[in-house]
Formats: sequence, C-alpha cells, structure tokens
Amino acid sequence: MIQFDIEAEEGKARFGCIEVKGKKTRTPLFMPVATRGSLRTLSNEEGRNIGFEALIANAYHLLMRPGTDVIKGAGGIHKYINWPGIIFTDSGGFQMIRSGFERDISLEGVKFKSEVDGKTTHMTPEENILLQRELGTDISMCLDFCPPHPASKEVLVRSVEITTSWASRCKDVGHATFCISQGGTNDKLRAKSCKELVDLGFQGYAVGGLSIGEPKNEMYRMLNIADNIYPHHKPRYVMGLGSPLDILESISRGMDIFDSAYPTRNARHGTIMTSKGRLSIENSRFRKDYQPLDEDCHCPVCTEYSRSYINHLFQANELSGLRLATIHNLSFMHDLIKNAQSAIQEGTFKSYKKEFGDNYK
Ligand SMILES: [Zn+2]
Repeated sequence: MIQFDIEAEEGKARFGCIEVKGKKTRTPLFMPVATRGSLRTLSNEEGRNIGFEALIANAYHLLMRPGTDVIKGAGGIHKYINWPGIIFTDSGGFQMIRSGFERDISLEGVKFKSEVDGKTTHMTPEENILLQRELGTDISMCLDFCPPHPASKEVLVRSVEITTSWASRCKDVGHATFCISQGGTNDKLRAKSCKELVDLGFQGYAVGGLSIGEPKNEMYRMLNIADNIYPHHKPRYVMGLGSPLDILESISRGMDIFDSAYPTRNARHGTIMTSKGRLSIENSRFRKDYQPLDEDCHCPVCTEYSRSYINHLFQANELSGLRLATIHNLSFMHDLIKNAQSAIQEGTFKSYKKEFGDNYK
C-alpha cells in the first residue's frame, strides 16, 4: 500500500510525503533513471549521497539482462543493486513497443523482439506486473500502450482502449501499482483515458505519452486535464519529464513525481545544467575558465573543480569528466526539487518558479 499525505499546498502545487513498505520520500519528487539498475557512470551509493531517496528501474531491461532469476537469487532488486530506498519499476512497454521491430500489440498483450538475443517474446499485462513484483520493486507501473507523436486519431483511440484494458488486469495483484493515461494530445481521448483509470481505482496515477515531441502548450493542456480528473489525494506522476522548466510548470499544475534520464544523459554529452541555463562544457571558451560549473551550486564537483578542468577532461576523453558532470547535474536536479518543496511549504513557489525561469536561459 502507498500512503500519500499532502502537507502543504500553494495554488495547485503540493508538498507531501509518500510512504511505501516503511520507506518515505518527500514530494515533489524527482527520480534519477537507473534503467538497468545503474545510474550510468555513478555507483548507486553516490546517487544516495547526492540525496536521492527513490529511483526508477526498468523491468523489461532487467528481465532481458541479467534476468529475473539472477535478481531473485540475490534477494531482490534492493539488495542486488544496493539501493535501500524506494524503487519504482517501469513496465518497459515503451521500450518493447519502440525496440520490438515486429511490433504486435493486441488486447491480449505485446509481442516484442528481445534486444539481447533477437528472440520474439509475448508478454501480457498480468505477466508484466508479476515480473515487477518478482523483482521486489516497491511501486510498479502498469503496462501501457504509448503511441508515437504525431499519431493518427485511430491509433490514439486504440492506445486508450488497450491501456484501459491492460490497466484493469494489472490492478489486483496485491502490489502498489500506478496506472498511466494515454490518448496523445487529443483532449477528449486524454480525458477518457484518465476517467476510465479513475473508475478502476489505483494507488497512484501517471500521465504517459508526453514529452515525446509535442508542443509544450499541448503537453501542459494534457496535464491540466489529468489534474482535473485524477483524485486530489493520490500521487500524480508525469513520466519521462526532465527539463527543470517543464518540471516546475508541472508542479504548478498539481503533479508530484517526475523521472528522466535528462540530467544524466546531458551530463555525458557535456551539457551542464546551471542556475543561469545550460552550458556546453566542451566549448573552448571554458579552457581557462576557473570558476565552478555553477557558482550557486554546493555539490562536491562545484566545490572542488573548475570549468577549465572539466573542459580538459572532456577534451581528453577522460571518463572522470562524465562522472563529475553527472554528479553535478543530478545535484542540480536534487537542489531544484528541494527548493521547490521548501517554496511550496513557505507559500513562495510561484515567485520561486518565476525567478528560476527568468534566470535559466
Ligand atoms: Zn555542482
């Protein structure tokens, strides 16, 4: 069971606490992505030291490699990956549909091609939820059908029909589970999807199929629809949303939980998030720039290293450059969320959001 308490509200923004299996974390919550159980370039302990209390892994990828038997043999996912905090797992529906070249989706389930050995496998929504439970995750996500953007109305209609049907079969497996709405950016279909999921009744509600190339105003309109339909007292999760401005906008629209590979992927490409916007650390203008990556950041990288040094590491293809950039970007996201939490408690979120947006160019 998930316990969710809202402790402060400012407008639609909420500050709260999620508790599951005796583990707690504050909301708004940003989860780093550990698709294969790893924070890419960091140890999971380093992720915890930044301050993260929850992460999201991917059931499909873990099933493919190392395999459920290996993780069960180790005593479950928490022990296996050394993460005592909260673990969400995504179903992997997005990956199965995107990477399964022989895409075959039906009410029954999804047929996909393994990325490891190329074998074609079939999975039902029930099997997927049981897989997540076997891994020992704390919170599972229902298998959903996320259409690409843009998609025809016919495909969007089908995405809602299949997603609701699959969700109804993921519901009663005795495990804390979030459902996921679909329907692209079609108002009526998005509302239909949200309503059908609310009628089924879940412990948490996600919004899926956004931040995949649609215009921002359409994405925000879908969040408003979800906010109007989803129960106020349940946690709301926008999947795959990682840019700081999008996250603050979503918080102001009543959303609580976010995950994205955005900070870690950007870091590996030399894109550093700072309070004044993003910078490409590989640029030669940083060659003799001895300032920290972000003068307002108190992370170990900004305390101990200069832009010049990290520019040098990237230029020289030193792996530690990727690590230091990742530690900074994740620290930046963690601070952003902590600041948003404090601002909601103090009733200053609206001005915090504006000030952040004015500076983050
Ligand atoms: Zn920093």
